[in-house]
Amino acid sequence: MTKSIPPHPVTAVLSGNDLLVFDVLRAANGPASAYDILDRLKPERPRIAPTTIYRALEHLIRAGRVRRIESLNAYLAATEAGDRAVVFAICDDCGRVQERDAGTEVGRITKALARDGFRPTHPVVEVHGRCGDCEAGSNSVAGGKP
Ligand SMILES: [Zn+2]
Repeated sequence: MTKSIPPHPVTAVLSGNDLLVFDVLRAANGPASAYDILDRLKPERPRIAPTTIYRALEHLIRAGRVRRIESLNAYLAATEAGDRAVVFAICDDCGRVQERDAGTEVGRITKALARDGFRPTHPVVEVHGRCGDCEAGSNSVAGGKP
């Protein structure tokens, strides 16, 4: 009989379902909701349940492989694994999300919070606006040039 379930360590091996969900997110090339992921997996896994998707997303977030974008209620494959501070620049016109390192700026905020006894675990800043392409009027539907 087990006493308690150990926390999912950052270095934990990801399960088959975790990797399936991660592959869908990487292929999405942008943010996707849990139901977008479910829809993409249904053809090959007709019995997959939403709880399976949410559990996989939770594992992937803890492993630093996926980030949750709160304001969009969506998930994005991390450009770099880890739990570093990031800023998401979210274009409200084309929906493109750019992930940027926010180390020093957010570091100042988290240090101030830590001085007050708060322990930040995953600082994320989300900024909505218009991307450079939309601002220049040159962005077509879901544009994304290599
Ligand atoms: Zn845009």
